[in-house]
Amino acid sequence: VAADAGAGSFDGLRLRDVTKSFASFTAVDDLDLDVPKGSFFALLGPSGCGKTTTLRMVAGLETPTSGTITLAGQDITHARPYRRPVNTVFQNYALFPHLDIYENVAFGLRRRKKADVEKQVDEMLELVELGSQARKKPAQLSGGQQQRVALARALINKPEVLLLDEPLGALDLKLRRSMQIELKRIQTDVGLTFIHVTHDQEEAMTMADTVAVMNKGVIEQMGAPAELYENPASTFVANFLGQSNLIDGTVRGRAADVVTVDMHGIGVSVPAGRSHTDGDRGWVGIRPEKVLIGEEGEALDAPGNTIPGGVVTDVSFFGVSTQYLVRMPWGQELQVFEQNTGRRRIFRQGDKVELSWRPEYSFLLDHNQDAT
Ligand code: ATP
Repeated sequence: VAADAGAGSFDGLRLRDVTKSFASFTAVDDLDLDVPKGSFFALLGPSGCGKTTTLRMVAGLETPTSGTITLAGQDITHARPYRRPVNTVFQNYALFPHLDIYENVAFGLRRRKKADVEKQVDEMLELVELGSQARKKPAQLSGGQQQRVALARALINKPEVLLLDEPLGALDLKLRRSMQIELKRIQTDVGLTFIHVTHDQEEAMTMADTVAVMNKGVIEQMGAPAELYENPASTFVANFLGQSNLIDGTVRGRAADVVTVDMHGIGVSVPAGRSHTDGDRGWVGIRPEKVLIGEEGEALDAPGNTIPGGVVTDVSFFGVSTQYLVRMPWGQELQVFEQNTGRRRIFRQGDKVELSWRPEYSFLLDHNQDAT
């Protein structure tokens, strides 16, 4: 079924031209967003970029200065929070400390005088694997368990959209990782739309089907995690989603689908993304794990791009991988991550090396953006 442009036929959450200003400061700037029904969607960006404000407008805790929010074709821009089929799980859980786990989860149903409370609470506790903890108070549970209670308490209201605002922010790294897997499992089980706000790129990429990268109140790029990682549209996205080498260059010719770029006197081929023409300056981007390091003249990835004249300036051995810094003839240090297979030699500081990569792994970005 082809998607229709009209809000009437889109069954997900849609934001159109949504702006939120606080006095003279614009926190969210003319945002357009489509979140398909049933998807796991992440809003990713640095602190202060407007993620939480966006989420609060969807929840009804803030009113947009302008623009519209629709859910399954219904305009909810000005609907009261409790009239929206939307629930939020916050970082601080906001559980009732004096109620036990069971009553915390049952709270929404009891307030709305629903039937079948017991059955639903039991099912929900089962889903988040807390059946055996039902009679404990929140303070008797670990952070990860409290987080799952908060989740159960939101899910039992059967919202159409669940908003998660840095829900794992208070957990330590190991617990965070297992909760990421858990959350994803629960989302798949219940099939609801999840919108997850985080500043953690790994978290967004491992959990979400679609990631929207936000910066200064606007969405810089939106797509599947791998798509954003392999083909970032801006230096901000390239740097925010992991490490990347960005090398200054000038376009010196264009064929159908590749451009030749002069990088400090060395010609390399780069897939022609947008309308780069002769003489344009740009950044050639290449991820550290896509770069091969070899002895001079080894031509590891011929007929790829080969850049001679490097000198190893730092070697960090991590067991599964070795990470190098290599100083190039033009003075820039590039990062190289190499998987340790045991079949390759490990270079040492001061070794003369050449770097190479396949053109299709690299990308070309506009120069009018900051590289840092
Ligand atoms: P964080 O990850 O730190 O929560 P965020 O991306 O969620 O960041 P927001 O909380 O949406 O960012 O805030 C975006 C900007 O809007 C910030 O500069 C913040 O100071 C500002 N802001 C948010 N709420 C208000 C408010 N009620 N009054 C004035 N400014 C606000």
